[in-house]
Amino acid sequence: MKLVFERGNEGNQCTILPECDVPQVELTTPKREKSLHLPQLSENELSRHYTELAKQVHGVNDGFYPLGSCTMKYNPKVNEEAAALKGFTKVHPLQPEHTMQGCMEVLKTSEELLCEITGMDAMTLQPAAGAHGEFTGLLLIKAYHDSRNDKKRTKIIVPDSAHGTNPASAVMAGFTVVSIPSREDGCVDLDKLREVVGEDTAGLMLTNPNTVGLFDKNILEITSIIHEAGGLAYYDGANLNAVMGVVRPGDMGFDVVHINLHKTFSTPHGGGGPGSGPVGCKAFLQEFLPGKQVTGTEELAFKVPEHSIGSVKEFYGNFLVVVKALTYVLTLGKEGIPAASKNAVLNANYMMEKLKDIYPMAYQETCMHEFVMTLEKMEHEIGVSAMDIAKSLLDYGIHPPTMYFPLIVHEALMVEPTETESKETLDEVIGVFREVYEKAKANPNAAHEAPVATYIRRPDEVQAARKPVLRYEF
Ligand SMILES: *Cc1c(COP(=O)(O)O)cnc(C)c1O
Repeated sequence: MKLVFERGNEGNQCTILPECDVPQVELTTPKREKSLHLPQLSENELSRHYTELAKQVHGVNDGFYPLGSCTMKYNPKVNEEAAALKGFTKVHPLQPEHTMQGCMEVLKTSEELLCEITGMDAMTLQPAAGAHGEFTGLLLIKAYHDSRNDKKRTKIIVPDSAHGTNPASAVMAGFTVVSIPSREDGCVDLDKLREVVGEDTAGLMLTNPNTVGLFDKNILEITSIIHEAGGLAYYDGANLNAVMGVVRPGDMGFDVVHINLHKTFSTPHGGGGPGSGPVGCKAFLQEFLPGKQVTGTEELAFKVPEHSIGSVKEFYGNFLVVVKALTYVLTLGKEGIPAASKNAVLNANYMMEKLKDIYPMAYQETCMHEFVMTLEKMEHEIGVSAMDIAKSLLDYGIHPPTMYFPLIVHEALMVEPTETESKETLDEVIGVFREVYEKAKANPNAAHEAPVATYIRRPDEVQAARKPVLRYEF
């Protein structure tokens, strides 16, 4: 399709302005040397442009979207209504505190409820994404060790079943990563963990449920091994959709946790839009939190924690994302929150059971909110890969599962149905997965060609990531 710059014509515009009735003033400095290349489109052309773009994407509103580890649940529209209220959209972050008490109450209530859900004592809403939260949490761990003058703690232990952002964040925060393998059952190898902990251990980052969709059954032992070595325990809670309202990282011995509002708490994500990755911590780390904390009961006030690591994002993070998440938490309430998680787990197990006779599962245990299948055998025997199956699903209006992740499973497809899909949809999708499998078996070559009914077929993803074209050359 044409880019917006290639549409329209000189002089086309969307607004009709009245004649200028004030004297025109010629600006002296600073002045642009060349005129801007702005697209010139009528409202009709502009509207069609965006409609055409919208038709090319697949969103939760289009159909099933089982992208594992991403929790593409349906986002209730009431969240948007709340976030669109003028009192939230028309504030300026530098307004005097007494004029934005309502917004501050939103921040405070959100912090309190998220602390209750995670079992933490304090929280910052500043980080803008999950990985950003990890980075922030690691800086808290670093600040803690530094404050005790414990400078030798330079290593962060990361199991190989962690999300890929965990080791990356640890390196960015200045730590050395020690990777430990998982056991056959997908859980952390405790013997290996005992071997690597020591005086140089700053902490451990645990993704739980981990990237193979399993809840580590030795979790209490893991946190106590870390604590006994003098390290802190970090919980990657981006997969909280499996456990919210059922168990709490704080009760499992974790000192720091990040959660993804743009996954578990039903705020839209994808396409690089605004996210939010709040970080919760136990009381002894509160003094290091970034940004400002809302304090007080009657008249609320902002306060920078005593030994704050500084700001990790301007002002209060992505405030309107927090409004949406708070709306979601209050809509579901104390009963709805665990019910959502339990249904997410039920839906994943239902799909797994209905598919495992033809799609081999990487692990045989009961899964949490997602499951991982391995198509290694199929690829070996008939040359049909996880990619071919994923691409075939597109022709049925289904977004592919996460492909080739986690890295510890070969030919992996990771499926996360979420709780917002009905049994009817799940049954339909199970039917499609089975049909795709049968067709691929009967005609492997056709599977290599899929998808055939989409706007574009198989883009070169590697090239797109390695050599992104981000500027329009005039
Ligand atoms: C999504 C995810 C992250 C990263 O979150 P972003 O918001 O994409 O930065 C980290 N850990 C896990 C387990 C995740 O699923």
